[in-house]
Amino acid sequence: MARTTTLHPVRPIAALLLCAGLLTGAAHAQTVVAPAAPAATTAPEAATAPAATAPSQVRKANIVIVGTGGTIAGAGASAINTAAYQSAVVPVDKIIASVPEISKVANVKGEQIFQIGSESFNNERLLKLGKRVSELLKQPDVDGVVITHGTDTIEETAYFLNLTLKSDKPVVVVGSMRPGTALGADGALNLYDAVLVASSPESKGKGTLVVLNDEIHTGRDVTKSNTFKTETFRSPFGPLGYVVEGRTLYYRLPARPHTTATEWDIDRIDRLPEVAIVYAYGNANPGSVDAAVRNGAKAIVYAGTGNGSVGEYMVEPLKAARAKGVQIVRASRTGSGVVIRNGEQPDDKYDWVVVDDQLPQKARILTALALTKTNDTRELQKILWKY
Ligand code: GLU
Repeated sequence: MARTTTLHPVRPIAALLLCAGLLTGAAHAQTVVAPAAPAATTAPEAATAPAATAPSQVRKANIVIVGTGGTIAGAGASAINTAAYQSAVVPVDKIIASVPEISKVANVKGEQIFQIGSESFNNERLLKLGKRVSELLKQPDVDGVVITHGTDTIEETAYFLNLTLKSDKPVVVVGSMRPGTALGADGALNLYDAVLVASSPESKGKGTLVVLNDEIHTGRDVTKSNTFKTETFRSPFGPLGYVVEGRTLYYRLPARPHTTATEWDIDRIDRLPEVAIVYAYGNANPGSVDAAVRNGAKAIVYAGTGNGSVGEYMVEPLKAARAKGVQIVRASRTGSGVVIRNGEQPDDKYDWVVVDDQLPQKARILTALALTKTNDTRELQKILWKY
């Protein structure tokens, strides 16, 4: 291959794996040590690496990279396949090995927990991931955790971890929009940046972070906004900071309680209640509400139009669901903005609640967590406004 590893670090590895028939979808449960990642804390290259670590760092951080799949573990048939490819096929140890620059900034260990597209996350996988990350964070020799993840649902996983992990240590969720085999692959730099952010003492106490495309976002706010562009992740109030040429630069802080300041502890949650999302659209089928109730939903997040508006033909089914004990959470399908209580609907009268500015998929996470603590509507409303 004519290209240098500096320009396209993942490509030779992925090509090699394709030739060797090693790109399988099988899940792994192994821990591997990245090559050239010595435990020594004063390696000469660390001292001379150009601004690769925060100046205040006196030793390389120990970072565990937990692999879950996604495009960052993807491979395409050709270099022009930037958007059509197979995700979740390259093992995390191979991804790490394909970015040798990482070993200059941290001692890294890879661990494969899943090998899936993130659209296949469910409550069980979320809990398994959270509990494993929690275990790792308790280890005194682990300074931070990076999770490689598909971009489709990175925002749900990051919000969940942001609300349930009981540690100040940095946790960074990272993905990529292009597989390592593509021209302009973004995974190598994103992973390098994620390790850098997880290694930075400045990242402590900032909750679960999402790093992609040179930006650091809080897991609470970030959302995927475009199907294929590398510039897809946005937070309505902007990212917390940038990663530029090996430097972690913060400009703002998360405003809402997270990690150690929340009422949830991942170690104490063994299942999450079923929460359904019903999406509003013209001529929506009122039967979708009943279907959610029949399928065991304990709450329905109604992704209403505009400010959580509810079509006249959907009001009765939602009231009927509430009468059966199902919580009704009014949200918006617009993509941003707060939903006003007693605005578009008389929430007091119907005993419904509203989100603050959480998108429906984030409201689902928060509502499920809230229901592990309370089924009182007033308490649920307080929680939705708090986090
Ligand atoms: N749908 C896949 C996933 O979310 C690939 C998308 C991506 O990672 O960018 O894992």
